[in-house]
Amino acid sequence: MDFKEFNLHPQVQAGVEAMGYVTPTPIQLQAIPPVIAGQDVLGLAQTGTGKTAAFGLPMLHRLVQGERGRVRGLVIAPTRELAEQINEALNSMGKLTRLKSVTVYGGVNINTQIKKLKEGVDIVVACPGRLLDHISQGTVDLSGVEVLVLDEADQMFDMGFLPDVKKILRVLPGKRQNLMFSATMPDDIRILAHEILRRPVTVQVDRAAPAATVSHALYPVGQHLKTPLLFELLKHTDTESVLIFTKTKHRAKRVGEQLEKGGYKATSLQGNLSQNRRQAALDGFRDGTYQIMVATDIAARGIDVSLVSHVVNYDIPDTPEAYTHRIGRTGRAAKTGDAFTLVTGEDEPMVRSIERVLGAKIERRRLEGFDYAVPAPKKDAEFVRPPREPQRRKDNTAKPAGARPAAAKPGAAAGGRKSVPMPVISGKQGGAGNAGAPAGGREGVGAAGKRHQHPGGNRPTNHAARRSGR
Ligand code: AMP
Repeated sequence: MDFKEFNLHPQVQAGVEAMGYVTPTPIQLQAIPPVIAGQDVLGLAQTGTGKTAAFGLPMLHRLVQGERGRVRGLVIAPTRELAEQINEALNSMGKLTRLKSVTVYGGVNINTQIKKLKEGVDIVVACPGRLLDHISQGTVDLSGVEVLVLDEADQMFDMGFLPDVKKILRVLPGKRQNLMFSATMPDDIRILAHEILRRPVTVQVDRAAPAATVSHALYPVGQHLKTPLLFELLKHTDTESVLIFTKTKHRAKRVGEQLEKGGYKATSLQGNLSQNRRQAALDGFRDGTYQIMVATDIAARGIDVSLVSHVVNYDIPDTPEAYTHRIGRTGRAAKTGDAFTLVTGEDEPMVRSIERVLGAKIERRRLEGFDYAVPAPKKDAEFVRPPREPQRRKDNTAKPAGARPAAAKPGAAAGGRKSVPMPVISGKQGGAGNAGAPAGGREGVGAAGKRHQHPGGNRPTNHAARRSGR
């Protein structure tokens, strides 16, 4: 089937051609007709399936006719990278329509956004926190929204954004078209879909399985030999661009530095980077300045790197869904890709869960010529965090040596800080060590250290939300 059969507005069809799309992907085939017909749609699809165009094209088709300069399309996404990616796609696909689309997310100057919104826009692609700020300041008018898209709804839930999303829904007109996309369908998302969507058409592609063009392999190895094995793998593989995942941001930074020292054009993406450095790392990976990007799941969410030829799981992910999400970045559309996972003995239960979801056993490989017999050092200190510098109390009323620090109260981190070096911890991402992490403000990252948090528990409070760049 050809895109022409959708009878998209000629300016939108021209955008399809400019993007070089010839054949619609399965999710596009299923979703575009009902969206054009004005129906609500629930899309079960992961990143890499072409879901952005599945909602973007029919949305542009609808908005190209009618009033201009008023927000009529609203897309809500969990991370700013995803928001940027969607906005970029809408601007490219809709270039000839002259519809104006802008992003709204935290961690960047709100005044620039206010100025753009004032000038009049047709589509807003937003992360929930900052959008709520605009709503409460009266700097965005959503009373004309005709189409609402909730993208990566499961991720939005995982990151604790559901209360914010619900607040946003309250200011939208009741009569509107709703499109919701999610890679997985846990109960909470099913309930949300039931609340928001009206008689939706459900479309689904390859719910859990990653793109069929990806080949998978496991490399069993001792924890202490992961880095040397990674080097050997890179040496022996013809890679175009490689995305490497680690469990923590500390490990991402460390592995990135090791690769750089080893002569690779590598960079890392972790929560503590300023927005500028983060953007520079992303741009550099996209334009080929860096061949390798090392990142955590959270930091890498939403990156559109259609050129990724290899995904390496330096650390196995926490859930099978995270595995398919990581792998979704390679083998996109018609490209083929490889996915390597370094596994230690402890990872076996997770390997079995992933294999269950994939419906197939993953090949175990041993790298010829690699010395697997090197013993582990007595104490594996490689990823232990360096001790922090002693913290001085601002008021100079240092406690006498040996005094016990005051018990830390919630929200009183600075006051309760010890004036002795912090104990050495190996810190899991999203734990207490992450509390003040997002230096540059990180909507969709700061509050997100922990996946599958309890909705009432680790949600972004106002404080946390401020920190996360709202
Ligand atoms: P998405 O799942 O929306 O992130 O899209 C994944 C990648 O597939 C993006 O790089 C899109 O530009 C590309 N893509 C989307 N639709 C098509 C299509 N019909 N043909 C070829 N590539 C596509």
